[in-house]
Amino acid sequence: MAMNEATARQAPNVYDAEPIPDSARAEIERLLASGDLFRYTAPSDAPVALLEKEFAEYLGSRYALAVSSCSAALFLSLKALDLPRGARVLIPAFTFAAVPSAVLHADCVPVLCEVGANFRIDMADFEAKLDHDIAAVLISHMRGHTSDMDAIQRLCETRHIPVIEDAAHSLATLWNGRKIGTLGRIGCFSFQSYKLVNAGEGGMLVTDDPEIAARAVIMSGAYEHNWKKHPGLQNSYHHWQNRLPLYNMRMQNLSAAVIRPQIPLIDERAGRGLENHDYVAARLDACPHFSVPPALPQETRAPDSLQFNLEGFARDEDVLAFQSAAQAEGITIQVFGLSQDNARAFWNWKFLGDTPPDLPLTRAMLMRACDLRLPARLERADLDYIADALIAAAEHVRQKAA
Ligand SMILES: *Cc1c(COP(=O)(O)O)cnc(C)c1O
Repeated sequence: MAMNEATARQAPNVYDAEPIPDSARAEIERLLASGDLFRYTAPSDAPVALLEKEFAEYLGSRYALAVSSCSAALFLSLKALDLPRGARVLIPAFTFAAVPSAVLHADCVPVLCEVGANFRIDMADFEAKLDHDIAAVLISHMRGHTSDMDAIQRLCETRHIPVIEDAAHSLATLWNGRKIGTLGRIGCFSFQSYKLVNAGEGGMLVTDDPEIAARAVIMSGAYEHNWKKHPGLQNSYHHWQNRLPLYNMRMQNLSAAVIRPQIPLIDERAGRGLENHDYVAARLDACPHFSVPPALPQETRAPDSLQFNLEGFARDEDVLAFQSAAQAEGITIQVFGLSQDNARAFWNWKFLGDTPPDLPLTRAMLMRACDLRLPARLERADLDYIADALIAAAEHVRQKAA
């Protein structure tokens, strides 16, 4: 595309979240008219209960519990595993600050494991750390990049260590044809606005384990006999009644009304997201200044953003100059390690202690990895605008640096 044509076109708006289908309106009106917003008021078929049923069916899980956020789902997962206070939980060092926070909230200790230049868990470091008194593993599939789940499951199964999947950003991602979030003992999802399904806020916990489901349901705030509104093994609920604290992390009916009409759209959004991603990824990867790590062979991705590495950018100031040059064309790139107080840079998690752990692989990746939102709704011309602008920005900076 000629440069004047590219500049004549407006930079696409990549910040708007997924739109809410019009079909949500009638149900929202009905809820507003009746005031029936609490999930446990209706004797049956409350919107939250219907959402749980539909989400479990979509994933092929036995149980689904709707909660206030993915962070709440992660916290309840750790509580439902009944880990002792101070238990060590292995998590990747490349994740969102809410993940180590959920571990702390559950009175556990996060142990950070290295993540490599391909945005996935470094398996040598994972294996080395697994034998240091790890009680549970929480795999955060950050930005929808799946770590080697075959190896992770094998290593954890032989040691009887439970695996929780943080699938917040991996809805519709497949691993060997199976849905991400259903591989581990528990899977957690997010409906925060910048995920594939947009409810502003919201989360889901899925499991096939009836004991974990019963414990999580009660702790999510199914007080008294409200657990009877969750299908499942009634005996476990009887057993846990009044024995577990109530953390009140329930979802309300309006959120479910916003989410339910998006469930049938997930696969289409994921397919378009992957097409857009692969198109821009191929264009950037063909340019010597960028590299885009490929998906693992077992993985079918469902991305709504693109991560790529800058190649040959030795100095931080050149990375910042690239970022500014892209910004001048209307394209916002986040370099995880270079923006102040970034919530995805582990050294900013001061709540874990003042001295960050020594994680040179993850640190090097975060200093050069670029993050670009790439929503499914973008058109081919938008994608070309973005690729042209990034390639031009990189060439401009590298020519000046040379
Ligand atoms: C968004 C996100 C979270 C947090 O989800 P909330 O619903 O906002 O609590 C956790 N982990 C990952 C990988 C995420 O992308």
